[in-house]
Amino acid sequence: MKTIKLYDENAYIREFEAEVISCEKSGKYYAVTLDKTAFFPEGGGQKSDKGTLSGVKVCDVEEKDGEIIHYTQELLSGTVKGEIYWDARFDRMQNHSGEHLVSGLIHKYTGADNVSFSLTDGECTLAFNTAIGDELIEKVEREANRIVFENRKIKCYYPSAEELKTLEYRSKLELTENVRLVKIEGADLCACCAPHCKSTAEIGLIKIISKENYKAGGTKLFIACGMRALEHHKMLLTQVKDISHLLCAKIEKTAAAVERLKNEKEKCEYELVGLKRKNIEKAVESISPSEENIIITCEFNGDDLRLFADKLKTKVKGIVLVLEGDDNGGYRYVLTSGNTDISPIVKPANTALNGRGGGRDNMARGNYSAKFADIKNYFENL
Ligand SMILES: [Zn+2]
Repeated sequence: MKTIKLYDENAYIREFEAEVISCEKSGKYYAVTLDKTAFFPEGGGQKSDKGTLSGVKVCDVEEKDGEIIHYTQELLSGTVKGEIYWDARFDRMQNHSGEHLVSGLIHKYTGADNVSFSLTDGECTLAFNTAIGDELIEKVEREANRIVFENRKIKCYYPSAEELKTLEYRSKLELTENVRLVKIEGADLCACCAPHCKSTAEIGLIKIISKENYKAGGTKLFIACGMRALEHHKMLLTQVKDISHLLCAKIEKTAAAVERLKNEKEKCEYELVGLKRKNIEKAVESISPSEENIIITCEFNGDDLRLFADKLKTKVKGIVLVLEGDDNGGYRYVLTSGNTDISPIVKPANTALNGRGGGRDNMARGNYSAKFADIKNYFENL
């Protein structure tokens, strides 16, 4: 039996009385059908309403062949009193109506179709099958908000089959009968099954937050309407205030202050690289030319360790092993030579010194989990 959809006629019904038609165990829930309901089931990208039936929590709602099924945690029978969580429902109505307005305007200016819509508690996204530039986004956002201020009527209705043929409306599906239309006066006409605000003023502020690419050549928009837009603004302001405090800069000058900081950081990094190079050169100068192998610990790490070894091999005939670390944590090593082929040494040394690593062009990098005395002893007795 088809359930009478109270939300279809009147989206503002928060409480209602209904008769339980069936109640059957379904997994961990009871599947309850009623003669009528104000609960909107999941559909068209929008999640289902939450609420209670005679105080019993309704965890999910879905529609199957015109029958609306409420999933509850307890068995129900007879007459029940339904109550939907209104704040969450109204928030969705605001965002869904806002989405129609934005999609309608984008369609008006580009002919693009809304090909995907998702409305959850945390996010409202809409995707189009075309690229949408920032200029158009700004224009649409302004116009949508102006239509909000103009307090235009929003009407949900079922036109007759004859009337439907004469109407031009947006629709994701090819529908021919029982089409429910949502009309935003002078702005949009779109097929939709969800509850909507009765006027644009109720939507409140409409903010297009961000965009990203969607499939091939499409665009996905993230929007926030009503309280969500306010919360989003609050979040941004908190962030920018914190940044302003950290930088000791006025809010409107935070970007310039960050840019200054970034330039200073780049300058410092450049100077640091120069200083490190000088340090490496000094360390190389302090070592006397030798015909032997050299095994030495140092403070250099990462690429500096490699650079140190690379410069050192010009002064040493034998192999160069530079190490950074300590006996407790082990040693990072660079093994190289200007004259001797190190390839036969790398693997046996790794095995003997509990190490790993390798390389090419006669240079190996890795680490040894061994004490310095043992490493030194091993290489001296090669
Ligand atoms: Zn819709």
